[in-house]
Amino acid sequence: MTAPNDSDDPQVPIVCPECETTSRVSLPDVADAVERHNAQLHDGEDVATVDPDIADRIADLAADDLGLLEEP
Ligand SMILES: [Zn+2]
Repeated sequence: MTAPNDSDDPQVPIVCPECETTSRVSLPDVADAVERHNAQLHDGEDVATVDPDIADRIADLAADDLGLLEEP
């Protein structure tokens, strides 16, 4: 039985030390969410970021998703 929602995308935590908030967004929305947060709340400065603990994993996931790990 599968739930009728979009939960199959990995959820990525975005942390903002200034707002002291953590929000989870699905992987395809991460770049937009970070950019929007920083643009709206921090004049476009890179304050909010993907949780550094998993940023490496996300990079791997994204690279895998895009096939960047496949050497020609
Ligand atoms: Zn913020």
